[in-house]
Amino acid sequence: MDLNHPIYSGRVTIDTVESELTTEKNIKLHVLRLDKLHPVISGNKWFKLKYYLADAADKGYKKIVTFGGPYSNHIAAAAYAANQFNFDAAGIIRGEQPPLLSHTLSAARDLGMELHFLSRDDYSLAKRNGGTGLIDECFINHYFIPEGGFGKMGVAGAAEILHIGDISKYTHIIAAVGTGTTIAGVLQATSPQQEVIGISAMKSNAALADEISSLLDGTVPGNFHIIHDYHFGGYAKKSQPLLDFMNRFYRLSNIPLDFVYTGKVMYGISDLISKNYFSPGAAILMIHTGGLQGNRSLPPGTLEFREKM
Ligand SMILES: *Cc1c(COP(=O)(O)O)cnc(C)c1O
Repeated sequence: MDLNHPIYSGRVTIDTVESELTTEKNIKLHVLRLDKLHPVISGNKWFKLKYYLADAADKGYKKIVTFGGPYSNHIAAAAYAANQFNFDAAGIIRGEQPPLLSHTLSAARDLGMELHFLSRDDYSLAKRNGGTGLIDECFINHYFIPEGGFGKMGVAGAAEILHIGDISKYTHIIAAVGTGTTIAGVLQATSPQQEVIGISAMKSNAALADEISSLLDGTVPGNFHIIHDYHFGGYAKKSQPLLDFMNRFYRLSNIPLDFVYTGKVMYGISDLISKNYFSPGAAILMIHTGGLQGNRSLPPGTLEFREKM
């Protein structure tokens, strides 16, 4: 399996964003555009999937099975990657089957992914057991990829996100946090002089610090902080100020953000800059982890850039 498949390279840029705020506070803000990697397997998801897929191929598995919610960027990416690399795929989806499939799920199904819906309780159980026990025999002998790519192989892939060139000039590296897999990889690729900030997309996710610590074998470096203040009411919750911010940010920078992760991160960065969290002269690298397909669940017109995706 070619992990450096040509569709995954050569598109990512680092864009500089300047605004009145960054000028006034003397902050350099740069965005690593992983959203440009690929329209479906965008952002961090390819990095988190690649070593699981390689492991599945090495071990001779023909089918992968993974977990996610109805709007999951991970399900979207896994369906596409499985299709590209000739695996059969099944997605175990949280919640009852809706009368109308979400854009994410119908796209996954069109790519050949079988969808299996489980109630929330059964889903958590299945996720904990790596699928065994609950789901029927047809899942025996298939390769399970944890929800969101959570795990050491996901971390190893995520560490490669920063293999884009010289990142030593950045004083702060900032990214969205869901399972924590991506930020754990980022931590492995940064130096102790750089401050790494994860902005959680969930409301008071108390387990997160321990989960990240377990991904890193207990060695969480001192230069790492998780900020829990920008969830806007919880995972995938949104409010008008967030959507307004995303539209303003697009007009300023031409960079589209998603409302579940990167919109909240950029809002947080902007708020932290205005509150003097960063010293003058700081150079921030925000990792745009992609996820733009999730914006399709919003009513048309909510975002000025939605139609361009
Ligand atoms: C999945 C996702 C994340 C969360 O990544 P983790 O590795 O689970 O912390 C962040 N941003 C976007 C856009 C995502 O789709």
